[in-house]
Amino acid sequence: MMSADRVTDVDVVVVGAGVTGLTAATRLTRRGLRVVVLEARDRIGGRLWTDTVDGVRLELGGQWVSPDQTALLETLDELGLQTFTRYREGENVYVGRDGRRRTFAGAAFPVSEYTAAEVDRITVLMDKLAGQMDPLRPWEMPGAAELDRVSFATWLEEQTDDEEARDNIALYIGPAMLTKPAHAFSALSAVLMAASAGSFSHLVDADFILDRRVVGGLQQVPLRLAAQLGDRVVTGHPVTGVSYDAEGATVRTSSGDEYRCRKVILAVPPTLVPRIAFTPNLPPAHMQARQHQSFGLVLKLHVTYPTPFWREAGLSGTAFSPYQVVHESYDNTNHDENRGTLVGFVSDENADRLLALSAEDRRAAVLASLATYYGEQALQPEAYYESQWMAEEWTAGAYATSFDIGGLTRYGARLQEPVGPISFGSSDVAGLGFQHVDGAIRVGRMLADAI
Ligand SMILES: Cc1cc2nc3c(=O)[nH]c(=O)nc-3n(C[C@H](O)[C@H](O)[C@H](O)COP(=O)(O)OP(=O)(O)OC[C@H]3O[C@@H](n4cnc5c(N)ncnc54)[C@H](O)[C@@H]3O)c2cc1C
Repeated sequence: MMSADRVTDVDVVVVGAGVTGLTAATRLTRRGLRVVVLEARDRIGGRLWTDTVDGVRLELGGQWVSPDQTALLETLDELGLQTFTRYREGENVYVGRDGRRRTFAGAAFPVSEYTAAEVDRITVLMDKLAGQMDPLRPWEMPGAAELDRVSFATWLEEQTDDEEARDNIALYIGPAMLTKPAHAFSALSAVLMAASAGSFSHLVDADFILDRRVVGGLQQVPLRLAAQLGDRVVTGHPVTGVSYDAEGATVRTSSGDEYRCRKVILAVPPTLVPRIAFTPNLPPAHMQARQHQSFGLVLKLHVTYPTPFWREAGLSGTAFSPYQVVHESYDNTNHDENRGTLVGFVSDENADRLLALSAEDRRAAVLASLATYYGEQALQPEAYYESQWMAEEWTAGAYATSFDIGGLTRYGARLQEPVGPISFGSSDVAGLGFQHVDGAIRVGRMLADAI
C-alpha cells in the first residue's frame, strides 16, 4: 500500500477499507473514476479479520454466509472464493428454564408442548410482520410508529404468558443478533432484523443463517478487493477532518495529508462519524440521528480441543440456551484441520458481567458453560481466544449498531441522506443484509451508483 502525498487530487475519497468502502471503491474505479480509500487501521477489512492464534486459524469477526445473502454470494463468485458447510451431523443441545440439558434433532425443540406451540405462534406472527416490511424503508410499514414505541421485551409480554417462549424468541433477535437485551430496542427493530434476512424463520434456523464459511476466511473478501485496488488503498491513515461545500471536499488525515475530491463516501459505522471534524458542521439532525444509534456488545470465543470430541458423542456442536452465559455455540472446526474448535458467544448483560471478571475467571465461566452443553471434556481446551471488538478503537462494539427505542422511525431515513458532497453508509444502515457482510456489499454498491 502506498503512503500518501501531502495533497492529492482525486474524484472520490472513500473513508474506511471495510467491505462497504472497498465495494464502493471497486465499482467507482471500474467506471473510470480516480479513487482513494483511506483506512485508519494498519490492516484491511474492518469487522472481518481472519488470523492465526496459537496455531489455529480463527475468524475473529464475521464468518458465516447464508443462502439469502445473494450480494455476498455473487462477490465470492467474482473473487473466486470457495465455501464449505458448517458441521451439523448429530444432535443439538438445549438447556431449558428448569436448568435441564436436553438433546434434540432437527426442528423438534425440546420444551413443553405449550411452550413449543407459543414459539411457533409467535414465529408465524413475526414472519407476517416481516412480510409487511420493506427493509429499505422500515418506518413506512403499517403500524411502524406503534411498534417502534415499545421495547421488544414488552411486546413479547403482550403476545404470550409463556416465559420460556418469550426468552427463546428474545434470544434470536437480542443476544444472537442485535447483541442487546430485548428491553433495549424496539419491536420495530426486531422486525427489521427479521425482514432483512428474508423472514424470522430464517433467523431461527441455524442451518440457514449459519450455513457456510469461506475457505481461508471471510476476510479474503476485503483483502482481495483491496489487492485489486492496489495503491489506491492507504492504510494507517485515520481521517480526522472533512471541509466541504457544494463543489467538493478536502479530506484530512491524522498525519496531515490532504485529499481534494468531488465526492466523499464515509463507509464507517454511524457511531464513528461524529469523531470526524466537519467544516461546516453536519446539520444538527444528522448528528442527532447518529447519537441514537449504538453498538451491541458480544464476546466471540474460540475454544480449541485436540479433537472435535462432541462429534464422537453424536453431537452436532450446535447448542443454545437463554439461560446460559454462552447463549449459543457451534462446531467451528476449519475444513482442513484435525483439531476441533467450538465458537461461542456471550452477549449484552452477560458480557457486562464477564468483562468485570479477571481474564482467568472469565475463561472459567465460559468453559463451565460449555461443559454444561458438551460435558466435562470441554473444560480442557488446548487454546482459548476471546475477540473483544468493544476494545477496538475503530469499531468499539459488535456485531453492529442499531437504534434505541423510537429511533428507527424518527431518524432511520436520515442516516441514508447525503450532506452536500458527503454520503454515508455501512452494513449498519443496510435494509437487506442489515448488520451483515451482504448488507455492506449492497450499501457499497448503492453509494457508488448514486455517484
Ligand atoms: C464478532 C463479529 C461477528 C460477525 N459475524 C458475522 C457473520 O457471521 N456474518 C456476517 O455476514 N456478518 C457478521 N458480522 C458483521 C460484519 O462483519 C459487518 O457487518 C461488516 O463486516 C461491516 O462492514 P463495513 O464495511 O460496513 O464496516 P467495517 O467493517 O466496520 O468497516 C469500517 C472501516 O472504517 C474504518 N474507519 C473507521 N473510522 C475511520 C476513520 N475516521 N478514518 C479512516 N478509517 C476509519 C475502520 O477501521 C474499518 O476498517 C460480524 C461482526 C463481528 C464484529
